[in-house]
Amino acid sequence: MMKQYLEIKERNKDSILFFRLGDFYEMFLDDARIASKELDIVLTTRDKANENPDERIPMCGVPYHSAESYIAKLISKGYKVAICEQIEDPATAKGIVARDIVRVITPGTLMETSMLDESKPNYLCAVYVGKTSAVCFSDLSTGEISVSEFGTGDLQHIENELSAYSPSEAILGGDEVGVEVLKEHLTNRLGALAECDGERFDENNREIISRQFGEEISQQLSPAAVYAAGALLSYMIDTQKTELSHLNTLRINSDGSFMELDINTLRNLELAGAIRTGEKKGSLLWVLDKTKTPMGRRLIRTWVLRPLLGLAPIKRRQSAVEELRGDTLIRGELMAALRGIGDLERLIGKIVFGNAGCRDLKALSISINSLPELVHQLSPMKGQALCEIRAMDVLSDLSDKIDGTVCDDPPFSVREGGFIKDGFNEEVDRLRGLLENSSAALTAVESRERERTGKKLKIGYNKVFGYYIEIPRSSSEDVPGDYVRKQTLANCERFITQELKELETELLTAKDRLAALEYRLFEELRLSIAAEVGRVQETAQHVAALDVFCSFAEVAVANNYCKPEIDVSGAINITDGRHPTVEVMQQGSLFVPNDTFLDSGSSRTAIITGPNMAGKSTYMRQTALIVLMAQMGSFVPAKSAQIGLVDRVFTRIGASDDLSAGKSTFMVEMTEMADILKSATRSSLLILDEIGRGTSTYDGMSVARAVLEHCADKRKLGAKTLFATHYHELTALEHEIEGVKNYNISAKKRGDDVIFLRKIIPGGADDSYGIEVAGLAGVPDSVIRRAKSVLKALEGGEMAARTSPAPQKDTGQLTLLDMGGNEIAAKLNATDLNTLTPLEALSLLFELKKIL
Ligand code: ADP
Repeated sequence: MMKQYLEIKERNKDSILFFRLGDFYEMFLDDARIASKELDIVLTTRDKANENPDERIPMCGVPYHSAESYIAKLISKGYKVAICEQIEDPATAKGIVARDIVRVITPGTLMETSMLDESKPNYLCAVYVGKTSAVCFSDLSTGEISVSEFGTGDLQHIENELSAYSPSEAILGGDEVGVEVLKEHLTNRLGALAECDGERFDENNREIISRQFGEEISQQLSPAAVYAAGALLSYMIDTQKTELSHLNTLRINSDGSFMELDINTLRNLELAGAIRTGEKKGSLLWVLDKTKTPMGRRLIRTWVLRPLLGLAPIKRRQSAVEELRGDTLIRGELMAALRGIGDLERLIGKIVFGNAGCRDLKALSISINSLPELVHQLSPMKGQALCEIRAMDVLSDLSDKIDGTVCDDPPFSVREGGFIKDGFNEEVDRLRGLLENSSAALTAVESRERERTGKKLKIGYNKVFGYYIEIPRSSSEDVPGDYVRKQTLANCERFITQELKELETELLTAKDRLAALEYRLFEELRLSIAAEVGRVQETAQHVAALDVFCSFAEVAVANNYCKPEIDVSGAINITDGRHPTVEVMQQGSLFVPNDTFLDSGSSRTAIITGPNMAGKSTYMRQTALIVLMAQMGSFVPAKSAQIGLVDRVFTRIGASDDLSAGKSTFMVEMTEMADILKSATRSSLLILDEIGRGTSTYDGMSVARAVLEHCADKRKLGAKTLFATHYHELTALEHEIEGVKNYNISAKKRGDDVIFLRKIIPGGADDSYGIEVAGLAGVPDSVIRRAKSVLKALEGGEMAARTSPAPQKDTGQLTLLDMGGNEIAAKLNATDLNTLTPLEALSLLFELKKIL
């Protein structure tokens, strides 16, 4: 057996092997060591007889029936699990039972409801990096699969695509350097399991694609797309080893439908997760998501993360939301009906995949039974999107079939029967009758035999002979000819008859026969439902869209949103805009609304000044969020809004330190800034918060000014930009660069206190109230007093010589280089800070000081 084990393990080195032995999955050797630690189960040894404990084979196991929770734990820790089963009947096998891998479970190929989050798609992706690159994403649990292509050297775009989909597992192939960069992004920033698997990216995969999606689709794909989609399919086939017929439609993503958002913008704007916690609570999705079905919950996440770029599709969504917003009664009825609909996509996925039970079929039919109510409620609706949903296939033939075959409330397992409806199948009814009447049948035989023989006989049962007729010794002589004597005891004799034996066989095997027959009928039903996978998926998509429309409408009413006017004017004009999340989080205290006006002409760039805590970030984010919400098709938190479509939103906000990657705050800031300046266009919206604050004042201000000039200048970038800064000096640009306008968020001083008015007004701020804010934050009085006197001195010009040198001029200050810094620099360069112990660091400091 160990030989068989090792041979199978050899083929599945990268997985923990669950080796089926009777009622257990056993793990051996290194797998056992890992699993016992990760799963907190006892590590034992198999060959206890071996005298040398070092030679004993480490082993641990988990019961077959509760394996799923153990597998889930391993998967969540980033392992793959290969399931090895007996593939022949042990009763008929000669020698050791044949075993083989039936499935490899990996983070990106989960089907088990218990391991999946119903509110998120679970993507596996394959990335091919080449002259032309391609990325293929698939969610095995729902059957979604799509492929996108990218031009030369577009690693940045691929990273953004990966961030938007956030796959849990990726396989990569192609250009080595590119693969490494993406692997780093996937592993460190997205927390995915990413592996290079170059050999899988093969030209011959076109054949697999043709087989899965048809010749026509395969011919439409470029070589890069074939590499990616083919690698993904081949991985799925190798790991799942079963029918993947629910992956039936390959969507080819064309450029220009969806807005690309980079990972910083996704995070800074807290679209699907709050920055600090990563949790949904506190995010835009949290505010917008009032969906009632799992499909709806997944779709709204996709819509939030991928706003639209085209006028027509946005208006289509808007009109659906508008109609539903207008009718509270219908919306209420629709949402109530949606509540009764389960996860159509994942249910049909399981049904096709073969790991569905009767309860899943029943859940499908219960969900289907709610569909006519949706259609009925939608009857007065006129918008195109809602009319298309109304025309959906309500799948009643499928629920009829399921309800006609399976009883209500079926048992969990399909192996033991008890779920086929009475009256559906004659043989099932007969066998059930037989089982139920077994004692009645025996009593009938008993009384008939008593009558026939005139003896005091009775029917009994034991394990050795089964059923028998027992007659007292006193009258056991002249029994009928068909009685076969089996046992003679002190005071009685036991006989069997042909009839009794037949009845017995029937009774004892009826249970098994019934279970097998019911299972066969279940399989027939399952396959016939599975054959309709395409229809169910299509309906599921309609239901999901309706769910999201209702959710948008519900939130629009509850939070008092308005319908934004969408156009291609390039202008953004918001009256009384609010921050969608902050206003909800701040329940109780009132959120102060603010206007925004930006266009492609004289108001391209807004410089926003104001003290810390005034609300600058909130204001800028709210503008970006309102634009994005409008492009999602949602209504927006404002009194009125006119939104000229933007091609992208870029944000550079706050200090997202990446110290683990060895980058300083300022380095991170500048890298992000560089990416923005490279990718933004005239039609983009830029949110830049305190550019340059990570370095010395004059450096910082110079960088900030140069960036601002670049963004504002029509001949350079000329994008709509909101620019918050502490450098009040920059407000002078209003008069120097066309298109720049100053704004500030006002605050008032009252005594030593500062009151935030939260209102944005034209003009630069006159004071930053830094000391007052420091006081509010609890900085000790003595420090505040000292700060005030320093400020006074500065304002009075006493310290002017040290504080106001022009940026380009020689400051006359000694630099490190002037002080023997070369040697210090060389020493520092030669030191690897990552491996330095605290003690070594201290002695290095001593050395450096000595040089100085
Ligand atoms: P800044 O960027 O100017 O330092 P923030 O935007 O971080 O300030 O805002 C500070 C706090 O003020 C926020 O946490 C928010 O709760 C509150 N705030 C901001 N804008 C408003 C507003 N318009 N109405 C009410 N509270 C606001």
